[in-house]
Amino acid sequence: MAYEYDSENIFAKILRGEIPNSTVADSAHSLAFRDIAPAAPEHILVIPKGAYVNFDHFGADASDAEIVDFSRMIAKITREVGVAEISGGEGYRLITNAGAHGVQDVPHFHVHILGGRRLGRMISA
Ligand code: AMP
Repeated sequence: MAYEYDSENIFAKILRGEIPNSTVADSAHSLAFRDIAPAAPEHILVIPKGAYVNFDHFGADASDAEIVDFSRMIAKITREVGVAEISGGEGYRLITNAGAHGVQDVPHFHVHILGGRRLGRMISA
């Protein structure tokens, strides 16, 4: 079974410049922007520029360069927005949702960076 990527998803439109975004970081292979409905004082989405549906797709098929670029961007943002403890912050959470049970709304792989307040338990009912 192959991954099917919907090129009309909202993050694909952001990558094509068809709808605006609040950019936090932009690199060769990745883009980060603020979530339109923040669930915490800091809520940033990091996406690869490649057409990957979810983490299992990205982790299996992305190039080493894409994976390194993506990881480095997340680390850089946690320090720059000041949620990483190394930068004087009080920590953060990374979330990536996949599929129906993961309740993924946008079918373009993304990681949520959440911070700026105590986030509570990991999963609510
Ligand atoms: P997920 O449920 O993991 O697929 O999360 C999708 C996230 O995308 C949600 O937190 C939305 O608030 C966010 N979102 C949807 N549309 C936009 C947009 N145009 N710009 C920024 N964030 C968006």
